[in-house]
Amino acid sequence: PLPVLAVVGRPNVGKSTLVNRILGRREAVTEDKPGVTRDRVSYPAEWAGRRFTLVDTGGWEVDVAGIDARVAEQAEIAISLADAVVFVVDAVVGPTDTDERVVRLLRRSGKPVVLCANKVDGASGEADAMNLWSLGLGEPYPVSALHGRGTGDLLEAAMNVL
Ligand code: GDP
Ligand code: MG
Repeated sequence: PLPVLAVVGRPNVGKSTLVNRILGRREAVTEDKPGVTRDRVSYPAEWAGRRFTLVDTGGWEVDVAGIDARVAEQAEIAISLADAVVFVVDAVVGPTDTDERVVRLLRRSGKPVVLCANKVDGASGEADAMNLWSLGLGEPYPVSALHGRGTGDLLEAAMNVL
């Protein structure tokens, strides 16, 4: 069986956009509103000659009251099924309480994590990315899933722990 790399994070941070970028095609469902990725969707993927299963996550309802618990629940399932995790945070927004909740799950899991500081579309966003050192998950990789910036370094780091 191929190693499993799961992409987790709260809604709207750009998980599906990143998955599409890694796959090199438009497949994962992206939308301006959160909650359009149903549960967990697996794709066969390849990077630098390594084959693996890439898992996009979502599936929570657009229910503001319950969204925090829902994100945590879905993230926990995906993490448990993964060999390594790409944790996506919106670097422009910065860490939220929901992000912190997922961080605690990641720590508890003991799984290797690569921190994706997404939506760093230009050099001016690098400082936002560096703020994510505060999450205690190691080096934040500045990425623009939308434009492809930084995805090579992120994937290289992921391949090193997968
Ligand atoms: P998901 O809910 O985490 O899967 O997020 P999506 O991939 O559906 O993206 C949510 C929104 O963020 C969409 O409007 C994307 O176009 C936008 N987005 C994703 N990545 C980036 C990025 O790197 N830069 C910018 N500016 N927007 C992004
Ligand atoms: Mg999605």
